[in-house]
Amino acid sequence: MTIERVLAPNPGVYTGPGTNTYLIIDRDEVAVLDPGPVIDRHLLAILDAVRARTATAVIATHTHSDHAPLANALAARLRVPVFGNRPGPGFEPDVLLADGDTVGVGRLSLEAVHTPGHAADHLCFRLSERLFTGDHIMGGSTVVMEDASAYLASLYRVQDLGVERIEPGHGDSTDDAGTVIAGYIEHRLAREQEILDAIGAGARTVEDVVDAVYAFVPADLQMAAVHQVTVQLSKLSADEKVWFPAGAAGPSTMVELIARQ
Ligand SMILES: [Zn+2]
Repeated sequence: MTIERVLAPNPGVYTGPGTNTYLIIDRDEVAVLDPGPVIDRHLLAILDAVRARTATAVIATHTHSDHAPLANALAARLRVPVFGNRPGPGFEPDVLLADGDTVGVGRLSLEAVHTPGHAADHLCFRLSERLFTGDHIMGGSTVVMEDASAYLASLYRVQDLGVERIEPGHGDSTDDAGTVIAGYIEHRLAREQEILDAIGAGARTVEDVVDAVYAFVPADLQMAAVHQVTVQLSKLSADEKVWFPAGAAGPSTMVELIARQ
């Protein structure tokens, strides 16, 4: 078995050095994971890396624009089916994968692990001691969440898998999976506590909480910070720790601690 990585030329604030496209190779077969955005020279770079091997699958971890849109064009060139959890913008999977489903390549079997949180349709893929984490765990950086409760539950889920190596959708791989996953969980719980402390110390709105907890965030990421605080307040509301009207929240939405007995 060999794993090869082709870096997509789409660096940015949310994508780090760019999207990692993985080739999972066994015997003379290859599966392509996270083909990335539609960029011609990236398509050519992937085809070049596949070379004369027999492709078996093109797979996407989730339907965000930096992971999935090249899938159908690449699969058409390779004459293989597209696998994913569900359709999305510019992404039409031939085979829908649910938790526990597998995709074969050579003697190997990639197992889908449903990990909602960053996105509801997010799948990680397990290959024995290795986990391809897409955007659930990125090379060291904080993940933007769509649902903070689901995200934390999915971190515990991958922790329970007991894998050793992480191959992320952005950034570098690591052989210290246990420490990295525990670090992500700790970071999420610490942020929650900071938010509760900020409200306890007088923060009254989403914006107050952002100012207190995400003061270090540069101006161009302030909207992301507002989003990140809003989804965490929604989780804390579901946990019955704060009063917060999750549905219609904006920067000036009020928030209050629920008094504990
Ligand atoms: Zn991504």
